[in-house]
Amino acid sequence: MHFDLLIKGGTVVDPGAGLQGKLDVAVRRNRIVAVERDIPAASAANVVDAAGQYVTPGLVDLHTHAYHSATYWGIHADPVAARTGVTTWLDAGSAGGYNIMGFRQFIAQPAQCRIFALLNISSIGLTAPTWELANLNYCDVDLCCAMIDRHRDLVMGVKARIDRDTTGANGLEPLRLARQAADRCGLPLMMHIANGPPDVSDVLDMLRPGDILTHCSTGGTMRIVGPDRRILDAARRAWDRGVIMDLGHGAGSFSFEAAEALIAEGFRPHALSSDIHQMSILGPLFDLPTCLSKFMALGMSFPEVIEAATSRPAALLGMQNEVGTLRPGAYADIALFEILEGVFPFYDVSMTRRDGRALIRNTLTLVNGRVLPRQVEPPSAPWMPLNETQLELRARGHTPGALAAAGHRAPG
Ligand SMILES: [Zn+2]
Repeated sequence: MHFDLLIKGGTVVDPGAGLQGKLDVAVRRNRIVAVERDIPAASAANVVDAAGQYVTPGLVDLHTHAYHSATYWGIHADPVAARTGVTTWLDAGSAGGYNIMGFRQFIAQPAQCRIFALLNISSIGLTAPTWELANLNYCDVDLCCAMIDRHRDLVMGVKARIDRDTTGANGLEPLRLARQAADRCGLPLMMHIANGPPDVSDVLDMLRPGDILTHCSTGGTMRIVGPDRRILDAARRAWDRGVIMDLGHGAGSFSFEAAEALIAEGFRPHALSSDIHQMSILGPLFDLPTCLSKFMALGMSFPEVIEAATSRPAALLGMQNEVGTLRPGAYADIALFEILEGVFPFYDVSMTRRDGRALIRNTLTLVNGRVLPRQVEPPSAPWMPLNETQLELRARGHTPGALAAAGHRAPG
């Protein structure tokens, strides 16, 4: 046999690699080896029939929380990967200096999907819901850099959550310390914004080219869109100098109105990420494909949302030849999707509704050329009851499966 696996008859969508159309994808061992028309089924030991489906690179999610059983927000990655097509996960600061070793041993190493991390400037990471930067004793730049140096294959940058709750009375000092750590290690800084103080313009000015602003479409008081619906000057400057704008939908960080205002001014997020965690997985985020469907409702095409969740984030991780691409030579991380058509009601975190015409649904996920088996997901953490928004969603019949089933009637 020439190939171990052949994904045959699907429509390939990989804008980053310039691949589009009826193409078959051939895999040998853990790598993609050919993407061509009409590869004979007889040339492969196993054939996946992808007729009627879209074949994309496995999704790369730039903002996730996968440190389950040890932090407040962490979820189990593999069961979610298997039903969403997300094959590469960047954990955004769940681990700090004190617990990155556990993250490697208990999370990243045993996972079937690929998991990387941003190291929190707070040594305790996201053990608790917030306040990790309210005690400056935890902002240990030396420790952060020492642990990054020991885990260069795992840690891709530094994370700091900058908002009034997380930093308490410490103002911009935690951000200055995160800045120092990132600069000393030569890695990007991902900064989260939510509700100030501080003033969002002050913190944006501290980001450098290649740094990442996550929650760029937040509706919180640190939003980057002014009351006139124009992008703030400091945000425009950041965008122009090469700061990466990342969505990070999460449980409190996605506003349709903010996203629409940005898009109206020509600013689309560079990366569409989920910020999936114990709370946001219960809706209205649910998962990355649902999030991408929301951006199709805002006018982006399927290839455009796929690019923002594959090749673009992969390049930000410096992994553009290995993940987020179907180019021969890359890891055989592959996702199959169907696009359901109908009228789908989508909600942002404040229950503002927009109707979309397409719902992206994952049908098969492969990592290293192997199918990730669907599995029952562990229950929510006991400290995570449904919030008001989620109760309202439930009352309207919204769970990820129900949303797909409800497609043609648009309830609630
Ligand atoms: Zn997050």
